[in-house]
Amino acid sequence: MMLYEQEKQVVIAAVSAAANLCEQVRREQGSLAIAKPDQSPVTIADFGAQAVICKALAEAFPHDSVIGEEDATLLRSGAMTEQLSQVTNYVKFQIPDATPEQVAAWIDWGNGNVESRYWTLDPIDGTKGYVRGDQYAIALALVEQGEVKLGILGCPALPVNRSQPDGERGVLFVAVRGQGTTMIPLHGGESQSIQATNTDADFLRLVESLESQHGNLPLQEAIAQSVGLNAPALQMDSQAKYGVVARGEAALYIRLLSPQFIERRENTWDHAAGAIVVEEAGGIVTDIYGQPLDFSFGTKLLNNQGIIASHAAIHSAVVAAVGKRVKIE
Ligand code: AMP
Ligand code: MG
Repeated sequence: MMLYEQEKQVVIAAVSAAANLCEQVRREQGSLAIAKPDQSPVTIADFGAQAVICKALAEAFPHDSVIGEEDATLLRSGAMTEQLSQVTNYVKFQIPDATPEQVAAWIDWGNGNVESRYWTLDPIDGTKGYVRGDQYAIALALVEQGEVKLGILGCPALPVNRSQPDGERGVLFVAVRGQGTTMIPLHGGESQSIQATNTDADFLRLVESLESQHGNLPLQEAIAQSVGLNAPALQMDSQAKYGVVARGEAALYIRLLSPQFIERRENTWDHAAGAIVVEEAGGIVTDIYGQPLDFSFGTKLLNNQGIIASHAAIHSAVVAAVGKRVKIE
């Protein structure tokens, strides 16, 4: 049996179920952001997706810890009984006998500590995109000894065919260390192995966040142009950006520090799955100084700042261009 085969089968099933839940909530409820104490948005679907995935991990790998973005504290409060029952109703479409108590407990299974082997989960990465009707991703990765070994991105709103933006939507990207990256259509069809390369001039471009506060858009675009990426930049929410680089639809995803948040460190769950999806497709992923990403800390990438994920042919040129343009203190 191939290494990580059981893990792969479990996460493909769990992330597919979570993707169905998120799409159903989006169809039926429209946008319904709830503000967390830090004012970042969360929805019924964030909680539902975390519940579905943590239940699957807890059953299949009861000794593994899971570090998920959400916890059920907010949902357990008396004022949120209605929301917890909504979450439970959507979880029931995936797990018919789920109760509110179980749903809250599954969500809290994602409050694990960092161990030598742990899972990191963002049940909805790009919640702003999700609420807006744009791109988002369900991101799950397995980390061992600080290195990502397996990553999966569910991208329910991403077109299956990069050349048919108005065609069928919904893909999974699955990567296992040493085994390459596969793209699987969510609603049936052929899986394919993907490569982070491209010769089509339309795809010689940057992909970056849509949120101006999550980076430095003008500088990112100047750097992309300086390494010959002249097609107009693509902007989208979430780790779908890594999937787009991995399948050659863009050559570079760069995330510089926003001038207002220069001390910020990235969250592990915002990058672990995406990084291995690009690496196993043949691309290179580092921080803005060209250093490898260090996933050994659990919740934050304390040793890294920003991200450069690119096709192999341009990576060193991008690091050099960033070095010239970004003041290193
Ligand atoms: P994106 O969809 O690429 O805009 O990234 C979404 C992620 O950005 C969220 O999951 C947040 O964890 C993260 N984020 C929040 N604030 C910032 C910030 N000031 N700079 C960079 N990333 C941020
Ligand atoms: Mg996120």
